Amino acid sequence: MQAAIASPLYITMHASDNVAIVANDGGLPAGTVFPCGLTLRDHVPQGHKVALQDLAQGSAVRRYNVPIGYALKDIPAGSWVHERLLQMPDALGLDKLPIATVKPEPMAPLEGYTFEGYRNADGSVGTRNILAITQTVQCVAGVTEFAVQRIKDELLPRYPNVDDVVALEHGYGCGVAIDAPDAVVPIRTLRNISLNPNFGGEVMLVSLGCEKLQPERLMPPGTIAVIDERQTQDAALDVVCLQDEAHVGFMSMVESILRQAEVHLKRLNARRRETVPASELVVGVQCGGSDAFSGVTANPAVGFCTDLLVRAGASVMFSETTEVRDGIDQLTSRATTPQVAEAMIREMAWYDAYLQRGSVDRSANTSPGNKKGGLSNIVEKAMGSIVKSGTSPISGVLAPGEKLRQRGLTYAATPASDFICGTLQLAAGMNMHVFTTGRGTPYGLAQVPVIKVATRSDLARRWHDLMDVNAGTIADGTHSIEQVGWELFQLMLDVASGRKKTWAEHWKLHNALVLFNPAPIT
Ligand code: CA
Repeated sequence: MQAAIASPLYITMHASDNVAIVANDGGLPAGTVFPCGLTLRDHVPQGHKVALQDLAQGSAVRRYNVPIGYALKDIPAGSWVHERLLQMPDALGLDKLPIATVKPEPMAPLEGYTFEGYRNADGSVGTRNILAITQTVQCVAGVTEFAVQRIKDELLPRYPNVDDVVALEHGYGCGVAIDAPDAVVPIRTLRNISLNPNFGGEVMLVSLGCEKLQPERLMPPGTIAVIDERQTQDAALDVVCLQDEAHVGFMSMVESILRQAEVHLKRLNARRRETVPASELVVGVQCGGSDAFSGVTANPAVGFCTDLLVRAGASVMFSETTEVRDGIDQLTSRATTPQVAEAMIREMAWYDAYLQRGSVDRSANTSPGNKKGGLSNIVEKAMGSIVKSGTSPISGVLAPGEKLRQRGLTYAATPASDFICGTLQLAAGMNMHVFTTGRGTPYGLAQVPVIKVATRSDLARRWHDLMDVNAGTIADGTHSIEQVGWELFQLMLDVASGRKKTWAEHWKLHNALVLFNPAPIT
């Protein structure tokens, strides 16, 4: 761990920026003189902005080489530039965007990197070997959880190659307008999560019986890949239905779930890890509890790692619509084809309309903690968030809940909410999750390893047994973005292989699956 920075330091993101952020732990007091001669007029907290020059009222305040706001009054050089001094810019229109204009130099392929994974019948690769029990409706959650505890206590010790048993609990399934057009989102999300590569193609359902989301609607014939000769002709769905008249008493339901679980455990237990190329990684990146360092340290390191993964032929998804909306021009210009750019615009327009229905816009995103961490508004937050996508061309777009079908860099449209974004990236098929945080969050998922990256050394020190990577060393000046990016890449291969566990796995910390349901509730 690094000691706090001794001399006063600010960090500028671009030569044309007229504000910078203070890097020192604890911030800096008024009167502090920087090596360049700039003197602070106010106390400026860590991660907050200082004016590098006099800013006239109405002039653009620039960070990341874009206007993150307009000065509401004259701001002398050396002042603390906080959100109350800024007028937020309007959102970019979606009709005159640059389409596939950037043609980056092709990057050299990255070859020779492998990990030890579980190869599935459909060609995908798992990083964990987990029995997942799908539920059609929330009503069965208690019974399933009771059964899962018994499976863990009584069965799992007999199947040592199986990592875990996870109930896919959620709030959907009944009491919802299931024929509304937008109901397609939660339904396909739940279906595709059940098919996540970490579950080995072993799908079992627990159903109540009277719910709107019937098992056949959730898993229509042909959904589940042919796993082996036992399923040459679409084997019947494995469903335990609690209202089945055969069940007399609660224990009959529980025993039925245990009996079915054991069939799947036996097959999962026979699987072995094999050496596969790094191109089999399907990585979902997101951030949460962001601060002004997110866009300076952790997210640029993740962006560098994203480029490494794309060069290795892997799949990377970045998401969080409200956090990239203000950089849509940077994304449409990086699209490989006009069709990809148009798909991105379609997703943004859909989300604009979704927010408008609730009488808000993308500015509803920022949290009190974001602002305390120095992020004045969603424009500044977006510029720091978008760098997780690196510099590679964007070759695909997914609507919420869809399954990923191609390699390279994909924009997977999801809300920025940590749990909903993670849930949708699980549905897309991620087998590795990377999560950056500045304020600190103990986020985790039971279904896939989550590597957490701290944006500041202070957080990494205090949360030493929760954070997996410290990108704060970039601000401290002891490590480069490239070094931390490579560290993350290597750690991914180790975690994917099961050689290392993340802290969230170590402590068994995980958050709930939260389905994105834009359709009405009844
Ligand atoms: Ca998030």
